[in-house]
Amino acid sequence: MLVGRQNNRARPQQRMRVRTAEDVAHRQRKGVVPAASNAHVGGHPFARLADNECLYQYESRSKAAFDKIEGVLRQIAQYQHRVDFVSQAQHITKQEFGFALPEQMLDNTWVAPLDMKAIYAWCVFETFHRFADEFYSTEPLAHPQDQQFQAFLESCGFHIFDVSPCADGRLAHAVRYVLRLPHKHVRRKSYAGAMFDVEDSLQKWVKIEHIRHREGKPNAASEPTRYLKAAMYHYSSSQPDVEGCAAHGSDSVKAAAEALGRLEAFQQGVENSFCCGASIDLMLIGIDTDNDSIRIHIPDAQGRISGECFIDAGDVYNQTRHLNASNDLAIVGDLLKEKANEFGVQPSDGMVRMITRLILNNISQIDYVRKYFKGSYSDVGHQERFIGMGIGFEEVQLRNLTYFAYLKTVEQGAKDLDVGIKIFTGLNIKRGLPAPVVIRYDYHGNVPGARDRAVARCKCLDLAMRQRFPEQAEKGLLHTLLVVRDCNADNKIEVVASSVTPEDTGGHH
Ligand SMILES: [Zn+2]
Repeated sequence: MLVGRQNNRARPQQRMRVRTAEDVAHRQRKGVVPAASNAHVGGHPFARLADNECLYQYESRSKAAFDKIEGVLRQIAQYQHRVDFVSQAQHITKQEFGFALPEQMLDNTWVAPLDMKAIYAWCVFETFHRFADEFYSTEPLAHPQDQQFQAFLESCGFHIFDVSPCADGRLAHAVRYVLRLPHKHVRRKSYAGAMFDVEDSLQKWVKIEHIRHREGKPNAASEPTRYLKAAMYHYSSSQPDVEGCAAHGSDSVKAAAEALGRLEAFQQGVENSFCCGASIDLMLIGIDTDNDSIRIHIPDAQGRISGECFIDAGDVYNQTRHLNASNDLAIVGDLLKEKANEFGVQPSDGMVRMITRLILNNISQIDYVRKYFKGSYSDVGHQERFIGMGIGFEEVQLRNLTYFAYLKTVEQGAKDLDVGIKIFTGLNIKRGLPAPVVIRYDYHGNVPGARDRAVARCKCLDLAMRQRFPEQAEKGLLHTLLVVRDCNADNKIEVVASSVTPEDTGGHH
């Protein structure tokens, strides 16, 4: 069905790390990765090709900044016993990264070896800092229909779209890339296995409904719209038993069933806790992390969802590749209704509009993977560059960049964190490189004392994590950057501490 899939299946070195352009070139020479060909792939009539180009530019440039770190540091390490080491090292890093290293990390190399683990972590953190600054100052992922989205959502009968994908880094781009929605207007909260916290969602629901009553935002409480909650599970079509969801033992049926169980518990929670017909609408989405193709399970008019009745965007892509784009919405809508009929399911008109839009949007993403990644990502498995722990990370909208552990306390999020450290043991620690962990707490600056509490929470998380992984912390295999952000002010992030350079607050630029 998809270009390159056969190659992938036969590829034993599939989980090899792709870090640098040289690596890729080397693997291409060995025939591990198919060399770029001029054959045009993608170009579906419904796909937004100009959007794809912008999104690809941003993704490739952002990841390249992280991926060159290792190669550059290897280069620097060769010079550590030379007299002019410091100036050599600074010359290379400035040229390659656009920033210099802190001098104190390079001094005294004639008596003690370079602490490459710390330097590596410092570079990852500095690169992250620059990446986040760019995100908030230039808005590289601004959505072309940013302003129209809320009106569209309300026209479908909803006032908020709240998505909980799995915390797996291969779903971090779910909102802006896979679903092609404006990240500013969609609530995203990730959990291992998409097993979102029902109480947290209930609190969010209460807050949203309260604001509708008090302020009429995003629409008045008298409007008959509902809260739409989605859970996103995942699977791998090329390696279903290995590269599926770690939290569900790569069992896609179990992943879907358990995510659905959470959705139903949330719906029940709302109905049981609040009278007067209070309820929410549910959506269950599955994603193939090899190629970003989604399936959406179609709820009936009562909101009931079954495991079997879903529409697959990959199928729609193939069925519509030679059709005229001027009717795209109607064509996809008809395919959806056909599918629902097959199972005797009758979704509401608003839900049909919403799912149709998401499937159509996903066709652009399938096309994106076909064009730029030959139909299937070469990093089918984990390839995250750092762990993001705490609350926040709006700036991370890219695939396989960050493993998320959303948590308020380490005890509460222990499972998510353990999975993250396990993943980074394979990616970094096994090779002697530290797991870089960005500890983050977003706060509302209009609440007195909120910043101080956010800083204190970061420090608390830092300490608790070191206590949970004492051996790694002791050996310098765990490095942390503590960051807060005032999400009311739409501000940049603020670095408050770092384990690499404990004496300064990290205000490098
Ligand atoms: Zn997962």
